[in-house]
Amino acid sequence: MPSKGRLGELQSQLEQHRLDAFLVTHLPNIRYLCGFTGSAGVLTVTLRDAIFFTDGRYADQASAEVRGPKITIRKGKSAMASAIEWLARCHSLRRVGIEPSRMNVAERDFIARALGRERKIVNAPLMVEQMRTVKSADEIARIRAACELGVHLFEKLVQKIRPGVPEREIASQLEFAARRAGVEEMAFPTIVAGGKRSALPHGRASQELIPSKGFVVCDFGVILSGYCSDMTRTLHVGRPTAESRRVYESVREAQQAGLEAVRPGKTVGEVDSAARKVLYNKGLGCFFTHSTGHGLGLEIHEGPRVAAGQQEALRPGMVITVEPGVYLPGKWGVRIEDTVAVTETGCEILTKCPKDLLTV
Ligand code: ZN
Ligand code: ZN
Repeated sequence: MPSKGRLGELQSQLEQHRLDAFLVTHLPNIRYLCGFTGSAGVLTVTLRDAIFFTDGRYADQASAEVRGPKITIRKGKSAMASAIEWLARCHSLRRVGIEPSRMNVAERDFIARALGRERKIVNAPLMVEQMRTVKSADEIARIRAACELGVHLFEKLVQKIRPGVPEREIASQLEFAARRAGVEEMAFPTIVAGGKRSALPHGRASQELIPSKGFVVCDFGVILSGYCSDMTRTLHVGRPTAESRRVYESVREAQQAGLEAVRPGKTVGEVDSAARKVLYNKGLGCFFTHSTGHGLGLEIHEGPRVAAGQQEALRPGMVITVEPGVYLPGKWGVRIEDTVAVTETGCEILTKCPKDLLTV
């Protein structure tokens, strides 16, 4: 869980980037650094201090959860207003870093006005996000538990998939079972996409009925103890045609090639190209229209991006997905996705669930 170590590491990075203070506004980053899970807070980190600002609604929660920073609540003031008021008083803090992609224009203007001309607002690099890409053993244990639950839920779900049932009915049964099993919330809107809709890479469960014949793509994730899982399996209703089977096996082979490329020292771009190459060689490359995967943890999409040309090297402790797919527009699609943790020698598959073509 959050430790002084994370704040200390961030503080040494502030020094490297010549920042006197850093305003952390992205809630998952705040949670990572100090443990706060509420929905309103700002963490101000200087080279020597860390102060967490929130509002009156979160007084009890902040004192129960926040470890490391001092907690400050100013009556009748928002977390941001309190944080800026504090910063405005500390004239020695000349260069103030913000998270530019985690803030809207109005907030930036507000900060600029409050801090005045003599202070410089600096668009800080993604320091916390970069720290978050390598997980601790505790974080991996949480993701593993989320993935194991996901697999269990999927195995139960398979029995509910049959022709004539609305996709949304299947998704809602999955989500109900997930909640009953202790899930905080789903990591993203559940995808259950049958027949022609399986050709939509992000086909959210709709009112459409599961067809009597064809693929069904199921892609879902749960959040358990703050951490996400993510897996996709594609099953087939009725007897698959030879072409369906060929495409399914090609995606499976591509996914396997991607998994085999996951080991320390390889770049994420190499994982992408390992999977992509298989599909290109089978004439299916142009139907694989998205990147091969993404990191996940406190958020469903975080670093590293497992995409073509990405140079970031894999390190033990990173958790990524490997999820190639083939989508034949207007016809159908197939995707297979696992969440894996990078180990010292390769990877551990966290979503241990069979990948033989399942027919129902
Ligand atoms: Zn997914
Ligand atoms: Zn994914």
